[in-house]
Amino acid sequence: MDTTDKYFHPVSGFDLPRFAGVPTFMRLPFVGPDHPRLPDVQVGLIGVPWDSGTTNRPGPRHGPRQLRDMSTMIRAQNGATGVRPFEMVNCADLGDVAPNPADLMASMTRITEFYRSVLDHEIFPLTAGGDHLSSLPILRAVARGGPVGMIHFDSHTDLFNSYFGGTQYTHGTPFRRAVEEGLLDPKRVCMIGIRGSTYDNEDRDFADAVGIRVIPIEEFHARSVPDVMEEARDIAGLKETYISYDIDFVDPTFAPGTGTPEIGGPNSFQGLEVVRHLEGVNIVGADVVEVSPPFDASGNTAFLGASILFELLCVVAKKLSHSQMT
Ligand code: MN
Ligand code: MN
Repeated sequence: MDTTDKYFHPVSGFDLPRFAGVPTFMRLPFVGPDHPRLPDVQVGLIGVPWDSGTTNRPGPRHGPRQLRDMSTMIRAQNGATGVRPFEMVNCADLGDVAPNPADLMASMTRITEFYRSVLDHEIFPLTAGGDHLSSLPILRAVARGGPVGMIHFDSHTDLFNSYFGGTQYTHGTPFRRAVEEGLLDPKRVCMIGIRGSTYDNEDRDFADAVGIRVIPIEEFHARSVPDVMEEARDIAGLKETYISYDIDFVDPTFAPGTGTPEIGGPNSFQGLEVVRHLEGVNIVGADVVEVSPPFDASGNTAFLGASILFELLCVVAKKLSHSQMT
């Protein structure tokens, strides 16, 4: 099949050096809301430059721009799986959601509206955050047909109730709110990589009470990645599932550029390997969040983030290309 007209292709490094040109996600065309070929897009890469939920070290508002820049390192083919996503589904950079950095609630409304429009066009949303609160307004759009499952990579559960005696919306609370709002089916949620010092057990007690499976890092290291991921796929089941990937899942040796690092995490290879084992999951949306360029002196955190986005894209491309053949 000649796919050259059907699909957008990244600008090749043989046509224009990869350090040149205007950076878009993976050097794909920018397809804004008025672009005539928007209806042809199947996977939309979306930036959420917003970190108003951050409680400690800020910076993920600068994540999408840096992830776009580092994603120019990504080539056409996955070296591990052989997948060539840009020849399997039509991918484009849909641009950024415009947040209101001075108004958290208004920003969440804007994000949800943006994603509703994306889903109205039947485009799969692949997000570059943003802090982890970004996932809540995205889930409000993605879960409009009912609660979804979630496989969540993070060193934190993000299941806390509030901060500073009442603030309900921070990057430590999105999945507590998502369960309360009926966006997540807690029995189909698996959180992997949890570690670090905490204030108390409030988040874990909530997870136990509602039936969320938490795989702490000690258990992750004691088992193999295929074994852990087989359990995660079983928990998610066959129904619609969201993937949320906090870059602080990976050890800060490999991903120092993030607001809340925790030592003792997976290495960057394992950080990619877990994504490859998502094959077969009924993924309806995915994000990579918490890349904070001001803390990323080498740029390697953003490069890892861009590489994880590419791994996610390869899994999603395989899933979508199977469903268009059947
Ligand atoms: Mn998080
Ligand atoms: Mn985290």
